[in-house]
Amino acid sequence: MLLKTASFVQYGERLLYNVPMTFHDFCTRLSTIEKTSSRLEMTALLADLFNTLQRDDVEPACWLLLGRLAPLYVNLEFNFAEKMVMRVLAECVDTASTKADNKERLSSVLSLFKSCGDLGDVAEHLLHTHAEDTRSILEVFNALLALAKEGGVGSQERKLQHMAEILRKSSGLTAKYTVRILLGTLRLGFSQMTLLDALSWAKTGDKSLRKPLELAYQMKADIGKFARVFLAEGEKGLDSFDIELGIPIAPALCQRLHTADEMIEKMGKVYVEPKYDGTRVSIHIQKSGKEWHIRTFTRNLEESSGMFPELATDRALDAIDADEIILDSEAVGYDPETDKLLPFQQTIQRKRKHDIEETAARVPLRFFVFDILYKNGKNLLHIPLYERKEILEQTIKRGSVFVLAPYIITDSPKELREFHAKQLSTGLEGAVIKQYASEYQPGRRGWSWVKFKEEEGAVGKLSDTLDCIVMGYYKGQGKRTGFGVGAFLVGVRDEKSDTIRTVAKIGTGLSDDQWKELKTRAEKLAVKSQPKEYLVHENLIPDVWMKPSLVVEVAADEITNSPTHSAEKALRFPRLERFRDDKTPDQATTVKELRAI
Ligand code: AMP
Repeated sequence: MLLKTASFVQYGERLLYNVPMTFHDFCTRLSTIEKTSSRLEMTALLADLFNTLQRDDVEPACWLLLGRLAPLYVNLEFNFAEKMVMRVLAECVDTASTKADNKERLSSVLSLFKSCGDLGDVAEHLLHTHAEDTRSILEVFNALLALAKEGGVGSQERKLQHMAEILRKSSGLTAKYTVRILLGTLRLGFSQMTLLDALSWAKTGDKSLRKPLELAYQMKADIGKFARVFLAEGEKGLDSFDIELGIPIAPALCQRLHTADEMIEKMGKVYVEPKYDGTRVSIHIQKSGKEWHIRTFTRNLEESSGMFPELATDRALDAIDADEIILDSEAVGYDPETDKLLPFQQTIQRKRKHDIEETAARVPLRFFVFDILYKNGKNLLHIPLYERKEILEQTIKRGSVFVLAPYIITDSPKELREFHAKQLSTGLEGAVIKQYASEYQPGRRGWSWVKFKEEEGAVGKLSDTLDCIVMGYYKGQGKRTGFGVGAFLVGVRDEKSDTIRTVAKIGTGLSDDQWKELKTRAEKLAVKSQPKEYLVHENLIPDVWMKPSLVVEVAADEITNSPTHSAEKALRFPRLERFRDDKTPDQATTVKELRAI
């Protein structure tokens, strides 16, 4: 049922507000959204917000709604520790209303925090005597931006002063949300996908434009820019929303099929490539004069440019015969002595940001390039794969850090099977099958790319693993008491309702080190109450809830129907394969995929 009657729903025409919204009004709306558990109502509230914002407020409002200051692909995070924020709060308490000295104030902040567990709530309580906050969204946004960009010698002290200035001007309510943004704990219980629904709703009063919105967003993953254009120009604005060098394109994803026969039947003539087990890297390069600008993005659309010094070498850049280029690749570590490819866990050591140069020397990477999406100002997404492969071969010279991923072209299940078996025998993960004449489909699991991982007919094992979200954990029993975690609850995504539904409770199959690692990670993600997007049966409530962030790859023997798991399916003999830091909850397996498996 559409929520058309509520007084806050405004659609059909875009209201032209000339007055900038105050940050206080914005926070009042955040507070209403926070209290709402109905997804539809939340979408309508967000739509109403979009329709009330002044044009220049749209971009900052989008980032703030997601608890950020910039798109995901811009590395701009506060990373403030709770202690730092507590210190500043103690300084900002209205000294007229309390005679306590700074030390006493700090200890009262600490005890409030201990009792309620949320520094945002503490800030609201402590600063409620402050006068009304009349700053506009843009003013607060710019102040936060300046704070995030503060760096260099003595920046720590300046940051504290800057933060104090911001909080002194805040009211209780605005302080609450400011503090949550500073700490990265603003979770309103929706993802970027709900924002797309809300944009559709803002124009039509329903979610009917979600699909075209999603398609456009995946070409240029910048929701702020996108919302601004769409709210001003509507659907026709989407047509002009083309890919842009330096802004990530959502990477194409693989579907699953079980047998070579099914693949050929469904896809016809295909390219078959090795499935490398490394990390996805989207490479954007621009040459201007003698200068090269290189930006890389992860599968999660986050910037990873600093991670790959080997791309910024003459040897790499000389291999590219183009001024502007976007490549899709999988980076895999290799042993410089034996030239052998290394397992995933060694490749991703690079993720830990320090000592990149040192890791790069020890575990150098090779970039297996398998697609080209853009060259010299031209968008190549819509031309057939065989043409893109040709352009790729003309553009990348062999023998550098780039390796053109080898392939066969076939329409024979037998050849496909043989190629796949050969990859497994050389220690690779399997094969990726791509439809011969397919377009590049950003962000989608279409039938143009399919992965072929396990040997066919493997008994007692699902043919593929699942990427699940860790939702919480149960404290240890017996041997595992020492680790502090005895089992954990995992779920998959329900795209339709933007919720996370449980599929397994996992208590076996982890090495001692993995249990320890899980505990360390779990502690950082622990939250006091059940996140709004989780659907969990009362018999499965974990001892400690975790916010949706950690993705793990899970293997199992079978999928069965389940009356208790909210995905209505359960994994039989589930076991942890590995932590998938390269995936976000948005990229976890969906209920629909689970059913298909
Ligand atoms: P999965 O993560 O199991 O869904 O498999 C898809 C991932 O395999 C992609 O996101 C890539 O990171 C990786 N991959 C490895 N080799 C290839 C290839 N030849 N073509 C496309 N993706 C590949």
